[in-house]
Parts: sequence; structure tokens; C-alpha cells
Amino acid sequence: MKTVTKKLFWDRPYDREFEAKVVSVDGQRVILDQTLFYPRGGGVASDTGLLDNAKVVEVTKQDDQIWHSLGSILGLKPGDGVRGSVDWERRHRLMRMHTAGHLLSSIFYRENCLITGNQIDPDRSRFDFNLEQFDRGRIEGFVNEANRIIAKDAPVKMYFVDRDEALKMPGLIKLAQAAPPSEDQLRIVEIEGIDRQADGGLHVANLKEIGRIELLKLENKGKNNRRLYYDVKNL
Ligand SMILES: [Zn+2]
Repeated sequence: MKTVTKKLFWDRPYDREFEAKVVSVDGQRVILDQTLFYPRGGGVASDTGLLDNAKVVEVTKQDDQIWHSLGSILGLKPGDGVRGSVDWERRHRLMRMHTAGHLLSSIFYRENCLITGNQIDPDRSRFDFNLEQFDRGRIEGFVNEANRIIAKDAPVKMYFVDRDEALKMPGLIKLAQAAPPSEDQLRIVEIEGIDRQADGGLHVANLKEIGRIELLKLENKGKNNRRLYYDVKNL
């Protein structure tokens, strides 16, 4: 029977250290009974860090199992206790980048631009969108608007709602239908009063933690393929 790894990163995204038991080992890959390491997915890079003395180089999700890929062999076996620590600098940047992405996409969405793809990385992030007229000034205006909203601050909340209830929430419907139909409950990430999305990712608790969004680059590859690169900076 498959063990479903307990997602400590959902319960306490600001924690950096945890203890766990090894569930299974496959070469340099390990499954734990619980983890603080966020696995790569939904266009977001994975956490890295340490498991005992081994580097955790990548974390991935297959079905409900979370695999920690290690940089060296620890000689672990099922039942062993291990200590994990998450690279906090990287994690916190990913959280800031991710919440910034939701805020930006809510502004683009409001302006009738459809987001067609995204990639959240610690160094720089991007998202793709379609927009009839490629208007650099207008897009810069969206980023400025996002920074004004950050300056006013708002709490970011995460909670679960029943799928049926989620489907009735305006703005969520499109995303909720894209979620696996087997899930009875959907996890919602809400920037209070601004944006609500069905999302499995990790976010900062308040918009102010983002700092400031900096537009790095805009690429124009046709109307369905505009691309925006951004970074987050400390104020
Ligand atoms: Zn997200």
C-alpha cells in the first residue's frame, strides 16, 4: 500500500526543520512519512536543503508520493528517523515570487489577458499570457498597480473548501474544473479582497513580504505568446 506523505509544508510553511521517518528508499531517492520540502509542481520549483548530512537536490511528486532526491547515499532504510532542514532563503524567495505571480495574474485577468503558462524560480520568474495589442506601457502599468497593492498590504490565507462549494465561487470555477475530479476538497489561496485561486503552492502570509515586483523583461512572440519576466526585491 502506498503511504501518503503528510504535507507539513501546508500546515507550517514558515518552519525550516522537521523530523520524519523513512518510508521507502530507491537508490538516492527517499520517501518520508512527512515532509516540509515542497515538491516541484504547478510551475513552481522545488525546495532544496539537507536530509541528515545529505543534500536534497530536488523534490518531486508522483501520484501522492513525494520523492526526495539526495546528492549522496545515506544508507537509509525504512523506519529510520531523519532530520530535514529546508534552504530557507530559497524557499522564502519562492513564496514571495509565487504570491507576486498570483497578484500579477489577477490584474492581468481583470484586464482580460489570459495567463497561458508560468514558471516560478528563485532567481527570476515568468508568466505567459495572450493579449491582443502588445502594449509595453500598459503592461508596465499592471506591474505598477501590483506594487501599489503590495504597499497597501493584505493578508494571504490558505484554506480548504468542499469541491461543490468551490465550484460556486466566482472566478474559481475555471480553475476548479481543471483540478483532479477525485479531490473532495480544494485548497484555496486567497489574497484577501483581491484574488482567490485553487492552488497547492506556498505563499507569504502578507503581501508586504513580497517587497517590490520588478519587471525584468517583456518578450513578444505573437498574440498568444507574450512573456513577462519578473523578480522580487526587498524594499
Ligand atoms: Zn499558484
